[in-house]
Amino acid sequence: MRMPLIAGNWKMNGSLSLVEEFGRAFAGVSLPVNVEVALMVPFPYLGAAAQALGETAVMVGAQTLSDRPAGAFTGEVSGAMLRECGARLVLVGHSERRALFGEDDAAVLARVQAALHEGLTPVLCVGETLEEREAGRTEAVVLGQLEAVVEALDATQRPRLIVAYEPVWAIGTGRTATPEQAQAVHAALRARLARHDEALAAGMRLLYGGSMKADNAAELLAQPDIDGGLVGGASLKVDDFLAICQSAG
Ligand code: PEP
Repeated sequence: MRMPLIAGNWKMNGSLSLVEEFGRAFAGVSLPVNVEVALMVPFPYLGAAAQALGETAVMVGAQTLSDRPAGAFTGEVSGAMLRECGARLVLVGHSERRALFGEDDAAVLARVQAALHEGLTPVLCVGETLEEREAGRTEAVVLGQLEAVVEALDATQRPRLIVAYEPVWAIGTGRTATPEQAQAVHAALRARLARHDEALAAGMRLLYGGSMKADNAAELLAQPDIDGGLVGGASLKVDDFLAICQSAG
């Protein structure tokens, strides 16, 4: 049985007061016991988030990491630093990192390996652009992004991954994939994982991301191969994010 995960991605948004608001709100509610929740906050808020959410079930995560362990890499943040500040998960290969910061499949793989090396759970993001979808290349793109990582990992590392399918055309646009569109891609991802190992495919959590909101989360999460959500905009409003978490239970 795969435990659903709802992960909020604040991107370069939020504030210390929002971190505290989330801490207070989550301390005062009971989340469904069969759901995991994480909040991926900007680097400077990690420590405060770990403290504010420390008494709750919400895990803290980061949005990227360096592929290097330490050294003269001005501006970079290592996996070890993330862990020290309380992060347990880290997004890798978010479409904004791929498109705006030039992270190709090799860079994404190096970051997944760095995360695993530090005991962090990498949440590998894959997804096609609108142009790629319209050209009928959705599966080729997302399976290629998946394989670029999975093929390079060994059998002990692969089960430690979480994958998030995020169609680029649905991120921050208000245009959500239909449950059927999302389910079709999730099923293709799971079938590809099964080529490596049936148990790996059966156990791996595949999240959907792309304009998930309180009013569309339940029908997306009801799909058999959708095991949770990666939530951008709606994770910045505590009531909306809580409602999504509740609908996953
Ligand atoms: C995201 O940033 O991963 C995301 C899915 O954003 P949004 O929910 O705003 O589309």
